Amino acid sequence: MSEHSTIEWTEATWNPVRGCQKISPGCKHCYAETFAERFRGVRGHPYEHGFDPRLVPDKLLEPLSWASPKTVFVNSMSDLFQDVVPDGYIMAVAEVMLRTPWHTYQVLTKRSTRMEAMLRTRLRSAAAASHIWWGVSVEDRKYGLPRIDDLRKSPAQIRFLSIEPLLEDLGDLDFRGIDWVIVGGESGAGARPMKKEWVKAIRRSCRNAHARFFFKQWGGIQKRRYGRTLDGRTYDEMPAQSTIQIPPRQERLKLIWRSEPPTADWSEAPLVQLKPQPVVA
Ligand code: SF4
Repeated sequence: MSEHSTIEWTEATWNPVRGCQKISPGCKHCYAETFAERFRGVRGHPYEHGFDPRLVPDKLLEPLSWASPKTVFVNSMSDLFQDVVPDGYIMAVAEVMLRTPWHTYQVLTKRSTRMEAMLRTRLRSAAAASHIWWGVSVEDRKYGLPRIDDLRKSPAQIRFLSIEPLLEDLGDLDFRGIDWVIVGGESGAGARPMKKEWVKAIRRSCRNAHARFFFKQWGGIQKRRYGRTLDGRTYDEMPAQSTIQIPPRQERLKLIWRSEPPTADWSEAPLVQLKPQPVVA
């Protein structure tokens, strides 16, 4: 969607899928839904269909067009592993990531069981690539902690957690096998509060397991007011990004030309028409 992102832990976003369906309490104030629904019915706008999940095959080759290496949040406006996205399309997204190893990709999902199953099978090559980081969202004990176990079981080379919005104390956690942990509070209207002790417990668990710790924000209704320092400092740790040199433009163009455009196999038809969704408590 954008060559530049204001999200603290990435540089760019890439959305070969748009729209999603709510699945757990962390989705209650989904920023992507709020943004997308503002444009429902606006003809010609990328979010003309609001937050209804849809494939965007025209976006598949976008990372090849970028002139510099980037750290890329994959599907910031959806969830790649939601049920309605076909396996073949997920594999097409993975194929683009594998062909562009000068970028570093961050794939984040709440559908951890499907991701784990695919990383073991059809996505095995992508799981083994160090420039593709695979992560799960965690917001509470009930829904979030089982996702950590799924991620740990997967053969991903780099595993990460986005613990945002952190909704309750998660206690002392076992982060063995986890490379990177992002923590943040909810922001915007109706933001649910996050306590300092909860964040400090996660920082402690990171130290115990040698996982990198990234503190994104305190959040709140006006997030700028509360900033992103913890005990007087910022925490911006993250795994090493790709150091592979980007090929010259001509070579990248050839790569596009040579690759059987995965765009041809897919259309942009809506995958599902969303009805007003109940808020998950
Ligand atoms: S899974 Fe992510 S993108 Fe999908 S509704 Fe929940 S918060 Fe939004």
